[in-house]
Amino acid sequence: MSRREFLKTAASCLGALGFVKDSWGAQVSGVYAGSSKAASAGANGIYLNQIGFLPDSSKVATVSTRAGSFLVRSLRDNSVALRSTLSAQRLDNASGDSVQFADFSTLKVPGAYRIELDSGVSGDSFLIRKDAYDNALLLTMRSFYGQRCGCDVNLGGGYAHPKCHMDAAFHRSSGKTGRCDIHGGWHDAGDYGRYMINSGITTGTLLWAWESYGASLHDFALQIPESGGKVPDFLAEIQWNLQWMLSLQDNDGGVWQKQSRDDFCSFIMPQDELGPNYVIGTGSVPYKSTCATADLAAVTAIAARCYSSYAPVFSQQCLKAARTAWSWCQNNPNVFFKNPPGIHTAEFGDNDCRDELLWATAELWRTTGDALFNQAFMGMLPQPLATIKIELPSATRVASLGYWSYALAGRNRSDAAVAAIQQATLKTARELVHQSSENGYGNSLALEDYAGGSNAVVANHSLLLLIANQFEPDSSHLDCALNNLHYLLGRNCLGISWVTQLGSHPLQHPHHRPSVADNIVAPWPGLLSNGPNANPADPITKALPRQAPMRMYVDDERAYSSNEPIISCNAPLVFVLAALHAQSSHR
Ligand SMILES: [Zn+2]
Repeated sequence: MSRREFLKTAASCLGALGFVKDSWGAQVSGVYAGSSKAASAGANGIYLNQIGFLPDSSKVATVSTRAGSFLVRSLRDNSVALRSTLSAQRLDNASGDSVQFADFSTLKVPGAYRIELDSGVSGDSFLIRKDAYDNALLLTMRSFYGQRCGCDVNLGGGYAHPKCHMDAAFHRSSGKTGRCDIHGGWHDAGDYGRYMINSGITTGTLLWAWESYGASLHDFALQIPESGGKVPDFLAEIQWNLQWMLSLQDNDGGVWQKQSRDDFCSFIMPQDELGPNYVIGTGSVPYKSTCATADLAAVTAIAARCYSSYAPVFSQQCLKAARTAWSWCQNNPNVFFKNPPGIHTAEFGDNDCRDELLWATAELWRTTGDALFNQAFMGMLPQPLATIKIELPSATRVASLGYWSYALAGRNRSDAAVAAIQQATLKTARELVHQSSENGYGNSLALEDYAGGSNAVVANHSLLLLIANQFEPDSSHLDCALNNLHYLLGRNCLGISWVTQLGSHPLQHPHHRPSVADNIVAPWPGLLSNGPNANPADPITKALPRQAPMRMYVDDERAYSSNEPIISCNAPLVFVLAALHAQSSHR
C-alpha cells in the first residue's frame, strides 16, 4: 500500500530567498502519519536566548504573561543577582501577543541564572559567559560535515552514514553521455540534491566568514576527517564542497546547474537512494547555465584568496577555474536554466544573471587586482551611483555580495562607488534597527518577511548589519544583529530554539531525511529550520489556523515550508556566530 507524499513547492519554503524548488512527489510505503510536536514549547511566557548571553552584551527577555517586576536569580547559590521592573505592556503585531520586556543588561557576571516574575512564574535557566556561543558555532558549522555526500560521515552519537550517491552519470540535458566520476559536495537541505546556485551563496558566505573572522577561526576544531592537516578545519570543511563545485565545470569553462536524482526520494537514508545521480544541464547548446557559471567564478575567486597560504596548488586551481568561468559568461551572458523533461528536483531558475556576474567580477578584481575586472565592475554599476540599492543576499540575488566585496577590498577602488555602496548599506541597516525596535521579540523582520525561509532572512539581516558595522562601527548595528540571534535561539513567541540540539526547547522534527530515517529520537545536530511561513505550500503548515505570522510554524517533518534545514540558512548563522566568537576571543 502506498500513497502520494506531500507536494513540495518550495516557492514558499524558499521564495523569500529568491529560489524555487519544484513540485515533487515521492512514493512512500504504508500510511505515513509523520511526527509533530506542539509548536509552543513552553518557557512559561518568559522568552529569551536559551543558550545565554555574552557578559557585555545587552540582555532582554520578552514576557508574555502579565507581571510588574522581575528578579534574576543565580543558580550557584540561589542569591538574587538583579531586581528590576518590567516595561509597560504593548501589542506585538508579528505574534499577536501583549508583551513586556525584562532588561537585565547590567548583569555581567558570568554564571547560570533564571528569571523569576513577581507573579510567581519562573523561566528556564540560562548562562552568561564569554564563550556562550562557541558550542553553537561548532554544531552549526559541523552540520556541514553531516550534510556531506560521497563519503563516510560520522558525527558521533549514531549520526552516521556510509558513502552515498557514488553512482553518477551525465543526463542527456548535459550534452554528454555515459557514467562519470563526479561526486561529493553537501546535500542541499532536507533532500539529497546538490545545486550550484544554492551552493554558491552558501559557500561564498562561509568563505566570507573566514575572511572576516579567520584569525579566531584558525584553530577552531571541528572534529572532521581532515582535522590535524595543513588546512584549518573551517576551510577544510568548505573545501569538500568546493571540490564538488569544481567538478561540475566543463572543459570549456561553463558549469552545469546541478547533480541529483530525477525526483525527490522518500524519507530514506542517503545511501539508500540508489540509481544514477545525474549531472544536469540546460538541454541544448551550450548546456551549461550563466548563473551557475558566474556563481562558481565568484566563489572560486574568493577561495583563491582564502586557501593561498594553506593549499597553494588548490588556490591556483580555484583562480584558474574562476577566470575560465568568467570568460565563459562573457560569451554566454544569458543562458538560463529550467528543469529538463523528467527532472523534478530543485530548479533554482533565474532569468537575470547580471547580479551573479557583478559578484564574480568584484571577487575576481579583489583577488587579482586586474584593471580589466575593475573596469568591468564599474561598467555594471547603476547610474547615478546614488541609485545603488542593497538587497538582502539570497540564492538568486547576490548583487549585494558583489557591492560589499568591492567596498571591503581596500585598494585601487573608486571612492565614489565605495561611498555609494556604504551609504546604501547603512541606510538598510538603520531600517533594520528600526524594525527590530518595533518587534515584540526583537527581530528585524517586517510583517511581510514571515514568508519562505524567514529564519534565513533573519540571519542574513544580521550578516548585513555586521557588514554595515565594518563600514561604520555602531553599537545599534551589533545589538540588532545579536537580537536576531536571540530570536532564532528562543526569544520568539513559540519559545523554541530553531537550531537542532541547541537550547532547552529545540525543534525535534525537521524536514530532514536522515533525521527521520535514522531511528534516533533527536534530529541531526546544528541545523537551522527555515522558520515561520505565513504563505506556506505544504499541507501541514497550511492546516494551521490563520494567525499572526510569527506563529505560522509547526515542528513537523512533513512541514517543508516552515521546518526544513537548508545549507544557505545555516551559512549566515555560522557567519554571525563566527563574528561573536571573534569578539569574545579578543577579550
Ligand atoms: Zn549523498
